[in-house]
Amino acid sequence: MINVVHTVKETRDQVNEWKAHGLSVGFVPTMGYLHEGHQSLIKKAVEENDKVVVSIFVNPMQFGPTEDFESYPRDLQADARLCEETGADLIFNPEAEEMYTDGFCSFVDMSGPTKELCGKSRPIHFRGVCTVVSKLFNIVTPDRAYFGQKDAQQLSVIRRMVRDLNIPVEIVGCPIVREKDGLAKSSRNTYLNEEERKAALILSKTIFMGQELVNNGMTDAKALINAMKENILTEPLAKIDYVEVVDFDDISIKDTIEGNTLVAMAVYIGKTRLIDNFIVTDKQLDTANKHGL
Ligand code: AMP
Repeated sequence: MINVVHTVKETRDQVNEWKAHGLSVGFVPTMGYLHEGHQSLIKKAVEENDKVVVSIFVNPMQFGPTEDFESYPRDLQADARLCEETGADLIFNPEAEEMYTDGFCSFVDMSGPTKELCGKSRPIHFRGVCTVVSKLFNIVTPDRAYFGQKDAQQLSVIRRMVRDLNIPVEIVGCPIVREKDGLAKSSRNTYLNEEERKAALILSKTIFMGQELVNNGMTDAKALINAMKENILTEPLAKIDYVEVVDFDDISIKDTIEGNTLVAMAVYIGKTRLIDNFIVTDKQLDTANKHGL
């Protein structure tokens, strides 16, 4: 059975032993309740590193007071099975007290890229994410760390943090894994009842629609946002938090869709807040232009 440890010391001891043997270490930070999205990150980490650490920690610091920290789904046994099957070597599963010892008062905060999108509706979220990810990087000291494009703003923020603070780790972004019908896989999908699960398809449908509009030559961000919002509102259970077009590097609002543009949305289906996005690359725009659109 895969080794599951709960303390910083055990994690450090294991990683130090590997490093003494010259082995490379890949790291996949998660909040658990693992699915094929997480698994794709672990798989890539296993391919690219000698040893792989997965952290499972529902980080209280990144949840607002009215958010779902208490109800967030947890299943360590199933998670351990998935990690083992996928070839991970160690799970770090600390209690909150292990991460935030008495008197904890140091934080990693970021301005710029955390202001828009999820940062607007979740004001303390990225401070919690940056703080916990920095701590995890200091504990695990990985060569590479794997993050999903599902949380595209988070990926961009972590890349910025690592650059700004000279953290010696390579950040590897991984594509969104979806259910067969298109819905982006998420631990939060378990909150949806049958009717909501059907309604949630409006997110991926709108993402695919937006992608097609861009592929067909739409470059005006407002026009794209309006078309996408209109489509979301055809679903009575959906309530829009945001649909935005931003630069993928610094998450600043863009008026025109050029290369490296992130088109992102957050939508409530009932009480469940879901996110989805797509990234417009230079190559994609070149293809649209070549078609004379
Ligand atoms: P979470 O457990 O939700 O904090 O996610 C842990 C990591 O898994 C993050 O880097 C997420 O972006 C990534 N992830 C979650 N869902 C997906 C998905 N459907 N496809 C790709 N990566 C994902």
